[in-house]
Amino acid sequence: MARDSEGDRRDETDGDRRDETDGEPRAPVVCEACGTTNRVPLSAVAEAIDRHNERVHGGEAVAEVDPAVRDALADLVARDIGLLDE
Ligand SMILES: [Zn+2]
Repeated sequence: MARDSEGDRRDETDGDRRDETDGEPRAPVVCEACGTTNRVPLSAVAEAIDRHNERVHGGEAVAEVDPAVRDALADLVARDIGLLDE
């Protein structure tokens, strides 16, 4: 059937879009030693911190999620679990 050729078009939309508006929340990763703050998607935060500390600081735990945000995140997660429980 002639309709099959339409199937390929979907790949275009999935190409290399790297918008920040894909809905994933981001957390600021702060490194005081470097004086930098990077916004990283939550799912990549741990890896970003690990990688930075390893490459730049020889494995020392220098970079971290902004403490204020980390507290808020912990609160969110706690609430999420609470909601699921009830
Ligand atoms: Zn650093």
